[in-house]
Amino acid sequence: MAKLALKGGNPVRSSPYPAWPYWDDKELEAVRGVIESGRWGMAQGDRVKELEKRFAAYQDASFGIAVSSGTNALRAALLAAEIQTGAEVIMPAYTFVATATAVLESNAVPVFADIDPETYNISPESVEQVITDKTWGIMPVHLAGLPADMDRLNSLAARHGLVVIEDACQAWGSQYKGREVGALGKAGAFSFQSSKHLTAGEGGMVVTNDPDFSERCHSFVNCGRRTGGAWHEHVRLGGNYRLTELQAAVVLVQLERYPEMIARRQAGAKFLRERLALIDGIKPIALPDYVTSTSCHLFMLRYESGAFGGLPKAIFIKALNAEGIRPAHGGYYIPLFKQPLLLEKNLGPYDLITRHEFRGQVIDYSDFDCPVTERACESEAVWLLQNLLLADREGLEDIVRAFEKLRENYHELLE
Ligand SMILES: *Cc1c(COP(=O)(O)O)cnc(C)c1O
Repeated sequence: MAKLALKGGNPVRSSPYPAWPYWDDKELEAVRGVIESGRWGMAQGDRVKELEKRFAAYQDASFGIAVSSGTNALRAALLAAEIQTGAEVIMPAYTFVATATAVLESNAVPVFADIDPETYNISPESVEQVITDKTWGIMPVHLAGLPADMDRLNSLAARHGLVVIEDACQAWGSQYKGREVGALGKAGAFSFQSSKHLTAGEGGMVVTNDPDFSERCHSFVNCGRRTGGAWHEHVRLGGNYRLTELQAAVVLVQLERYPEMIARRQAGAKFLRERLALIDGIKPIALPDYVTSTSCHLFMLRYESGAFGGLPKAIFIKALNAEGIRPAHGGYYIPLFKQPLLLEKNLGPYDLITRHEFRGQVIDYSDFDCPVTERACESEAVWLLQNLLLADREGLEDIVRAFEKLRENYHELLE
């Protein structure tokens, strides 16, 4: 008689984990308030402005610029930082596609660095290896909410005259050495998309301490207008990347609730980190000393198949899901530079990388070599999604029990 649920045994857990998004009457009241006011757009209302102020303050930044998505926040940040055609921007190969598309849509060139095997964040050593005389900037990603090694990245940037733009799209409330992320370099981008911890379905925010950057960024997301200018005066190329008052009202409610939510996720993550680390072959992602707070957007761990008789990651995850541990999956499944977008250079009019020379020849993304990213994608990384961390003690114990059960019975899956 098999024990594992994937083989017909009883699952560890049959009830679902907390759903996401979480909401209550406060969101309903906030939306109703905006609807009834008749002020639905930011040109009429004050919710977007209020959110810009409050969110920037929460992230220890002087200015916030609300944007329609995290993707557009990255794009707005690059343009407000005055990126130029042909600029090379170094980013981790282990990230969401938007980090790269924001650069491509600036007529600039994504260049990939590998990740650190302990933290899965961009490796400063690897960044150093891909700096050329065309390098313009570095885009660290605070993956899963774990801050990247900012002191080392900022000092590399200072040494080479580079701009640092943080992809903080998973890092609301994450701190590096006691300071909130986002404005640790020139600027940072956040997302309020539906899977994120602060959400209005879609939305985003740029934060910065630089007043001129802030002015350019506001202008870019608002059709190239200028502060104090006429409605039909356009001083630069921009677009309509505005957030609505309805979205801002919802995110404001969630920001108020956020300290309590982040504390719950952190407590859940601490429990899992301690307990899962005791299981042979399961290595929760490291928490370096410079991390003083993490959003815990994902609970990432390294699965070492050697301790499970070589069982492939995909089957391990299927078995974990069958035990009732959902949502959990294998995360990004190929390094970003291996996406067809980059290998085949499917770029529409943003086709600069079909001509751009990187180290003496036209850039070819199949030449990039990032073994740690490769390993994380293929065989190692397991992501437990953030709503699992909101579970009660029993829900958390069930996660540990499921991992222990798999460790004890993996041979059932090896036939
Ligand atoms: C979510 C996310 C984005 C994009 O944000 P959207 O709001 O979905 O456009 C960018 N980078 C990372 C790392 C993300 O997780």
